[in-house]
Amino acid sequence: LGKRVESIKGTKSDAHNRLMAFRLLLRLWALPCTLVGWMAALVLVLLGAHGRVVEGVLEIALPMRWSSTRRWPFAALTLGHVVIGVSEAELARLRAHEQAHVRQFERWGPLFPLLYALASVASWWRGEGLYAGNRFEQEARRAEVNARIAPQA
Ligand SMILES: [Zn+2]
Repeated sequence: LGKRVESIKGTKSDAHNRLMAFRLLLRLWALPCTLVGWMAALVLVLLGAHGRVVEGVLEIALPMRWSSTRRWPFAALTLGHVVIGVSEAELARLRAHEQAHVRQFERWGPLFPLLYALASVASWWRGEGLYAGNRFEQEARRAEVNARIAPQA
């Protein structure tokens, strides 16, 4: 029995190790974009923004005085495994949406910014605007809606 338990444990940890290795590969694939995110994050933190890691993603909230005095063209922006949001509240509200973008960076890696831009142009060409008809935004909105229907926490 002891041996059997050991072998079950062994398989389980092998599967776990493979999953960890796969996750690491996804992170490496997205790393060129994450590096751009880290640079933006570093500058913002030096200017007073707050950063914390949530679900494996570095979330940066802009300083309160910025979000209250200015209108930003975006509520949150994802660069690889970095999400920059105008406030903690917006980061929380848009978490499922931005996490979907993180998965897109993991899937397409350094190609993603180009593919996103092409999807925007295609959407604009169809008369659906640069944002609303973008297939990556539609996918992120579906994730947002699903999270509202069946919250993770
Ligand atoms: Zn989006």
